[in-house]
Amino acid sequence: MNVQQLDNTYIAHTYARFPVEIVSGKGSEVLGADGKRYIDMGSGIGVTAFGIADDTWNQAVTDQLSRVQHMSNLYYTAPGAKLAALLCERTGMKKVFFGNSGAEANECAIKVARKYAAEHKGAEYSTIITLENSFHGRTLTTLAATGQDKFHALFQPLTPGFVHTPANDIKALTEAVENNRVAAIMLECIQGEGGVLPLETDFVQAAARLAKDKDILLMIDEVQTGNGRTGDLYAYMHYGIQPDVITTAKGLGGGLPIGAALLGEKVQDTLTPGDHGSTFGGNPVCCAGAVSILERLDTAFLQEVQQKSAYVFNELKDAPGVKAVSGRGLMIGILPEKPAGEVVAECLKNGVLCLTAHDRVRLLPALNIPMSVLKEAVAILKAALS
Ligand SMILES: *Cc1c(COP(=O)(O)O)cnc(C)c1O
Repeated sequence: MNVQQLDNTYIAHTYARFPVEIVSGKGSEVLGADGKRYIDMGSGIGVTAFGIADDTWNQAVTDQLSRVQHMSNLYYTAPGAKLAALLCERTGMKKVFFGNSGAEANECAIKVARKYAAEHKGAEYSTIITLENSFHGRTLTTLAATGQDKFHALFQPLTPGFVHTPANDIKALTEAVENNRVAAIMLECIQGEGGVLPLETDFVQAAARLAKDKDILLMIDEVQTGNGRTGDLYAYMHYGIQPDVITTAKGLGGGLPIGAALLGEKVQDTLTPGDHGSTFGGNPVCCAGAVSILERLDTAFLQEVQQKSAYVFNELKDAPGVKAVSGRGLMIGILPEKPAGEVVAECLKNGVLCLTAHDRVRLLPALNIPMSVLKEAVAILKAALS
């Protein structure tokens, strides 16, 4: 059997894969087993922040790989400590818990919220409010947090204690806070899987004030929006708020699995020994890769992300076949006149890998995609849209 036949025979059918096998790549260009070159405008769903096989990242990862590839969390290792310090210095947060994915980062946040509330207000203050159309992960608890019924139906009972309110509706959020015993509000600043829909600034700021007034934790899910993706280091920074908990994953490791829950002042000491853990969490190879990513996300680099973003928005906003363009930085959603799936299939045929999110074509290219490659991809995308 060839690779596609083996995969279809032996891997659980949870993914509708495109009929392409990727064998190698460099930066934002990848090579198919068919010998075809593709421009990667998805970067593994916002994961390979500096593209495929980036030299600096490769060096950091392979150096650590040949030193110590894993130690249990019973001992100290340098990469995790350095990464946690960097994350805290750059966000004002105080402590970090490392897991291996976005869902695990959110699980940690939810445990922190419930313990903080139990200790400060009573165990009955366990409700977490999230938004309709949100996405927070695939574990049974983060599915419960995810405000999309289509993910829930066949997996009941989910973890109880989640309430969903409409995005940008501060009245509904305030009512939910009044009608429930609430531990935390959890938000994505830009709903990614939900269609690349940014929250309104007024709403986010009002939610932050509400949380502060009621001693409810404000938890921002930066799994997709974090680590330079939106042209800010973290998307919340654009909104002028300071969260109590930030979760991140995807782009953080540059291609290796790592998730992090960043804990602010209020909750920095909420977790104590035995409360939480992960065998692989804080893996030194993943952390060494993440340090090499985060160190390069400086102001000048983030400005380049914003410039590339402006280029894409300008090219697409009035382009034939485009109804709307949403998002920020290099997290971009395009509402096409044609079905999004058709546009993505046409792009694939012409050598560009794009994503969808609901009814939109979604772009999450590597943050360092060269301008020439970006231009080439946008031209092919525009032709597919028209
Ligand atoms: C992808 C995503 C998750 C889940 O991350 P995994 O690493 O797949 O567990 C959670 N929240 C948001 C906002 C995401 O985009």
